[in-house]
Amino acid sequence: MLSGVMDYGDHIVVSLRKTHKTTRCPTCGRRIRASKESYPRIIRDLDIGPKQAYLSHYKDKPDRHCGYRGYERLDFAEQYSRATIRFEEYVYRLCLNLPLKSVCEIAGIDWKAAKNIDIHTQKRIEDLRNISPKRIGVDEIAYEKGHHYLTVVRDIDLGKAIWVGLDRKSATLDMFFEDLGSEKSALMEIVVMDMWDPYILSVRINCPKAEMVFDEFHVIKKITGALDKVRKTEFADADDDERKLMKHKRFLMLKRRKRLDHEELETHD
Ligand SMILES: [Zn+2]
Repeated sequence: MLSGVMDYGDHIVVSLRKTHKTTRCPTCGRRIRASKESYPRIIRDLDIGPKQAYLSHYKDKPDRHCGYRGYERLDFAEQYSRATIRFEEYVYRLCLNLPLKSVCEIAGIDWKAAKNIDIHTQKRIEDLRNISPKRIGVDEIAYEKGHHYLTVVRDIDLGKAIWVGLDRKSATLDMFFEDLGSEKSALMEIVVMDMWDPYILSVRINCPKAEMVFDEFHVIKKITGALDKVRKTEFADADDDERKLMKHKRFLMLKRRKRLDHEELETHD
């Protein structure tokens, strides 16, 4: 239970206190009286508003009985972690989409901690050996102002990212299929991805039976880009009055788009 909250200005410490004098033994599962030795811990949790939050608690040792000598396990944190599970999953998701530098900045942790969380949480979230994805999505993610790329593979049915690789070459995606194994790769049914030749090549080689679907978002992005080009050339050829009219039209389009987005947001709630 909650026993206190201390506000230190830039961070908050929430203290937890146990309501039972017993603890569950991780080995035999029995509820055992806690020994006198308990171990104070402060671990990072999700921010509360603009402030970093920490959970302060004690880890107990079950009194000696079945041979287990370690501390109890808690359901909100991994055994040796310095953060809660939900904080790690948050950092992991940030890592999927952002360069480490940005992740560190957003989460308020250092490079090593972010990398460590990223690696360990990924292992916990999905292990390729335990799944047989049939439908995957492949995304390229730009970072450092588009100078670098990541390749992220999602299992569409699980709704989770299952693999992340540096770069966006054929060889990058080849590594995913290698990690997955040739048997499972051959059973792949659908690959949703960007119209990006290196990915197309990799899919053709590694899972020739899979159907390639170029996802709507990327197709729309390409079409929008083409439309923008057309509009720009039209604008360059137009006289002053026509330009005014075009600007107005573009403004209306943007306005309508904004309202649409807003309505979409409302229906999602
Ligand atoms: Zn035990």
